[in-house]
Amino acid sequence: MNKMKMTNEILEKIKQSMRHAMNGEFYKKRFAGISPEDVNSIEDFEKLPFTDKDDLREAYPLGLAAVPEEEIVRIHSSSGTTGTPVIIPYTKKDVEDWAVMFARCYETAGITARDRVHITPGYGLWTAGIGFQAGAELLGAMAVPMGPGNTDKQIKMMMDLKSTVLCATSSYALLLAEEIARRGVKDSICLKKGVIGSERWGEKMRRRIAEELGVELYDIYGLTEIYGPGIGMSCKHECGMHMWTDFLYYEIIDPKTGKAVREGESGELVITTLQKEGAPLIRYRTHDLTKEVPGKCECGLDYPRIATIIGRSDDMVKVKGAIIYPSRVDELLAEVDGVSSEYQIMIDHLNGKDILTLFFETTAEIELKLRELEKTVETLFKEKIGIFPDAKAVKLGELPRSEKKSTRIFDNRY
Ligand code: ZN
Repeated sequence: MNKMKMTNEILEKIKQSMRHAMNGEFYKKRFAGISPEDVNSIEDFEKLPFTDKDDLREAYPLGLAAVPEEEIVRIHSSSGTTGTPVIIPYTKKDVEDWAVMFARCYETAGITARDRVHITPGYGLWTAGIGFQAGAELLGAMAVPMGPGNTDKQIKMMMDLKSTVLCATSSYALLLAEEIARRGVKDSICLKKGVIGSERWGEKMRRRIAEELGVELYDIYGLTEIYGPGIGMSCKHECGMHMWTDFLYYEIIDPKTGKAVREGESGELVITTLQKEGAPLIRYRTHDLTKEVPGKCECGLDYPRIATIIGRSDDMVKVKGAIIYPSRVDELLAEVDGVSSEYQIMIDHLNGKDILTLFFETTAEIELKLRELEKTVETLFKEKIGIFPDAKAVKLGELPRSEKKSTRIFDNRY
């Protein structure tokens, strides 16, 4: 299988998952008037309503459960922007299936029972840590369940236990790498591989972590609503993440229209669980942006691949047919010397045309140099994103700063 395809076998699994989901209050209500028996083609399936995080929030606390309470063995929770969390109930089989997928992730990275797996993601309501641990144990590797924080202790344990695999977010992996370099203890570190959570990270950061720790890096994908991390993993060929399609069906849609993107186009990942019991989800919008990776992977795995996550659909805008998201702009600005990481994009509609203005901060002061920088940014923007912006250089510190995530793109057209 090269890419995710709807087959009769998958359709049957989806129908089964729908029947099961409709045992619970949540989908009984959501799919009122819809029968799984009427879903007999991909077209029928694509008419089903999406499920979004806000819908799950309304089911708080246990409204998502599709099994009787005695079958639920654990819950996990994801935070929300509005304060009401989402709670996902798991059955015994869900917990086991998650570990099976996670062990497969480790195997895909060439990790074996002889490895010692240093786990820094957090434990608790959020799913990360325990998933990393259960997968390592199922594989037969030695789990070192550190959790986050206390860098001193992390480095000591890493040296004393001779950990060979580091599991971390990209930002924590970078912090540890820098600290190891600063202390000059790299020679006492036995790490060979890093398994890095799926938050967005640039190529520059990736190279720094890999070089400073002297490890091979692997991307792991997942979200709390669909088990947690571990539903997809990159292999040593570094060409996207293999998705475990025996447990899920995925689609890539245009986040604005909800329709499937054309082959090779980027869009939002939408997932339907095929085996989940506690809280099955049908057409769940992840808001993660990615694209299908065509062809068969050299590693020989038959699972289809998606590209590393490039951003969130909530942050994306479309101008004159070009898709713009902050990560792409981050990346292209990083290529230009003299341009800082801070920028703002304004999109306006004037005289029947969309106009895009890009403000970026710079350390350059000479007028001539500024104009030159603006031209470089404009050309690069056109080359990478497909449209010409009106680039305007401003002094360092001139753009507003925010303690929270800063807003980069302001769409004033509507
Ligand atoms: Zn592969």
